Amino acid sequence: MSAARRLVIASHNRKKSGEMVTILTAGLPGWEILTLADFPGAPEPEETGTTYEENAVIKAASAAQFTGELCLADDAGLEIDALPGELGPWSKRFMGEETPFTEKMQGILTRMAGLPEAERGARFNCWVALAAPGLEPKTFHATCEGRIAEAPSGGGGFGYDPIFWLESQGCTMADLTAEQKHAISHRGKVLAQVIGHLRQTDV
Ligand code: IMP
Repeated sequence: MSAARRLVIASHNRKKSGEMVTILTAGLPGWEILTLADFPGAPEPEETGTTYEENAVIKAASAAQFTGELCLADDAGLEIDALPGELGPWSKRFMGEETPFTEKMQGILTRMAGLPEAERGARFNCWVALAAPGLEPKTFHATCEGRIAEAPSGGGGFGYDPIFWLESQGCTMADLTAEQKHAISHRGKVLAQVIGHLRQTDV
């Protein structure tokens, strides 16, 4: 019997890596899915890129160098049409990295108060990089369209999910179960591409 193939999820965000473990474990039976928690001392590289893709590659390559394993990192962000250039790749740092999400979301809702539905457009954008020692990093990406809700709702997901309204579902991303979120989210869609790629190739 051949040894299990291993994949390390290169994220220090527990909620995000939790989502990735769930999706990848279901999609890659027989693979050993690890996280950086399995590699004590793994560095948290500075996200010095100006694009999601650059930051995903920085995180995956840093983890590949430290662990010697095939590593996967994602970089995602919320893009709000009414606040151009303010979140996107800088979504984590919006209003300060340590500011609780309840305050960040309230800040967004206050600035968008009174804007009609047509001007509340938003999307999650997610890039994923696969890297391994000696391998040119490979990237994938997907988006999820929605709009900024009038008020936060739901206790699922993480980050900006409670204010991300999904027209097709009639609720926010945080109102969905984990399974429902992964079926339609930016991360679920991009990881479906990664799973397809890994099933067909050696890396
Ligand atoms: P990063 O990719 O870890 O840099 O995350 C960027 C920011 O977007 C963080 O503040 C996350 O909380 C937020 N974010 C990323 N993915 C999601 C998601 O699926 N739902 C809600 N917020 C997210």
